[in-house]
Amino acid sequence: MPLTSRRHRTLVPLRLLLLFLLLGGFLTTTLFSYYTSLKAVRSSILSTELPLTSDNVYSEIQRDLVRPVLIASMMANDTFLHDWIKHGEQDVGQITRYLREVQNRHNAFTSFFISEKTRTYFQSRGVLKQVAQDEPRDAWYFRVRELNEPYEINVDIDMANQDSMAIFINYRVLDEAQHFLGVTGVGLSVESVVKLIDTYQKRFDRTVYLVNQRGVISLTGEAGGPFGNRAGKAIADIEGLDGLLAQMPKLQDGSYEYEYEGHRYFVNVRYIPELKNYLFVTKHDGGQTAEIRQSLWLSVLMCLLVTAVVMTLFSLLIRRYQLRIERLAATDQLTELPNRRGFEMLAGQAIEEARREQQPLSAIVIDLDHFKTLNDTHGHMAGDVVLKGFANQLRASLRRSDIVCRWGGEEFIVLFKNTPLDTARQLAEKLRVQLEQQHFFWEDKALKVTISIGLTNLTGGEGLDGLIARADRALYRAKQSGRNRIASEPGASA
Ligand code: GH3
Ligand code: MG
Ligand code: MG
Repeated sequence: MPLTSRRHRTLVPLRLLLLFLLLGGFLTTTLFSYYTSLKAVRSSILSTELPLTSDNVYSEIQRDLVRPVLIASMMANDTFLHDWIKHGEQDVGQITRYLREVQNRHNAFTSFFISEKTRTYFQSRGVLKQVAQDEPRDAWYFRVRELNEPYEINVDIDMANQDSMAIFINYRVLDEAQHFLGVTGVGLSVESVVKLIDTYQKRFDRTVYLVNQRGVISLTGEAGGPFGNRAGKAIADIEGLDGLLAQMPKLQDGSYEYEYEGHRYFVNVRYIPELKNYLFVTKHDGGQTAEIRQSLWLSVLMCLLVTAVVMTLFSLLIRRYQLRIERLAATDQLTELPNRRGFEMLAGQAIEEARREQQPLSAIVIDLDHFKTLNDTHGHMAGDVVLKGFANQLRASLRRSDIVCRWGGEEFIVLFKNTPLDTARQLAEKLRVQLEQQHFFWEDKALKVTISIGLTNLTGGEGLDGLIARADRALYRAKQSGRNRIASEPGASA
C-alpha cells in the first residue's frame, strides 16, 4: 500500500496544524473565560462580600458596647462612690451592695471598683484581691491609671468568673480636682458577641473571630475560630494559616487569599480600635470557585469532544476526496474504463494470483481498424462516439472477473482470469463478430468499425510487460494479415 501510506504521510502536518488550531483556539478561550470568572468571583468576595460582613459585625459590636460604656461612666461619676472614697473606704458592705445593685440592674456579668489609695479590688461579692504592679494579670489597671482617655474597652479574661472571656469597660474615677481615685466599670459576658458571630458564621458560611494585638485569638464563635482553634491560641501557632501569615507578617488591615490542603480561603482583616482587636472574617471557597472549576472541566471536555469530532470529519472528508481523486487518476475520462495506470494495479494482482494458484490467464490486445481514416472522414467527435460505444459494448460483453482497460488511443486490453487460450479465443471472436454487426450513430450517420485482436496467454515466470509484448506481436500479425481478425501467439509453456 505505498499510495495509502504516502497519502497519510503528506497529511500529517495538515492534521497537526488543524489539531493545534482547534485545541489552541478552544483552550485559549476556555482558559481565558475561566480566569476571568475566577477573578470576578475572587474580587467580589474580597472587595465586597467580606468587607460587608466585617462592617456589619463591627457595627453590631459597637452597638452592644454603647450601653456598658454609659453604665461605667455613670459609676465613675456616682456621688455615692466619690463620697465613699472621700470617707476613707470604711464600709466594704456598702460598696459591695452598690456594685451588686449595678450588676443586677444592668444585667452585667461583673462590676468592680479598684481603689488607687488601697489598691483593693472590690466587686459585688466583696473584696477580690489587692492589685500589684508586678502581677501581669493586674497590668490592665496600671495601664488605665496612665490612660489619657476617660476609659478603655478590653476583651480579657475575667478572674472573678472562672477566668471566662469578658469585655470590660474600665473607667477612670477622678475627683473634682482631676485626681485619680481608681478604676470602676462593668464586665460583660461576651455571650452576645459570640451569638452574633455565630449568626454570621451560619448565615454566610464564614468564620468570624477576634485577634488581639499580640496575635492571640481573643474571641470566636461557639465552634471555635480558624480550623476550630479557640481563644487563647496564637495565630502564628495555627497550622494552615502559614499562607496568610506570609502575606501579613505583622497584623494589619486588608484582604488576603491563601490556600491550605487544596482549599482556598479569603480573609478580611480590620482593626477595631474600641476593642483594640482585629476582626477576622474568613470565607472558605467551597462553592463558587469550585463551580467555576467544574465548568472549566466541562468546557475542556467539550473542546476535546468537538476537536475529536472535527478531526474525524476532516479525516473522513479527506479520505473520500482522496479516493475520488485516486479513482479519477486511474480512470479514462472518455470511456470511463480503467486507464493504463488503473489497469497496471489490477493486472499485477491478477498475474500474481494466477501464478500462485496455477490458474491459466489469457490476454487480448484490441486495436480499432483504420481508425485514423474514420477520424479523418467524419471528424474527431465521431471517433470519440465510436470509442465510447465500443467501450460500452466491451464492458457489456465481459465477465465480472475480466480486467479491461483503454491502453491508449484506440487500443484496448482485456485480461481473462482463470481462462485458457481457447476459451479466450472464443470470447475474442464473439467480440469481433458483435462489433462487425454494430453501428454507431453520429449526426444521422451510421458508423461502422472493425477490430483486430492479438491473443496470448501467461507463461511461467513472465510479468505483465512480456505478456502484452507477445499479444502486441500477435496483433501486428492480425493487422498484417488483413485486419478484422484474431491472431494468437501462445506462451512458450502452453
Ligand atoms: P490501423 O488499422 O493500422 O490500426 O490504422 P489506424 O488508423 O487505426 O491506426 P493509427 O495508429 O494510424 O491511427 C490511430 C488514430 O486514432 C489516430 C488518432 O488520431 C486516433 N485517436 C487516438 N485517440 C483518439 C481519441 O481519443 N479520439 C479520437 N477521435 N481519435 C483518437
Ligand atoms: Mg493503433
Ligand atoms: Mg488502429
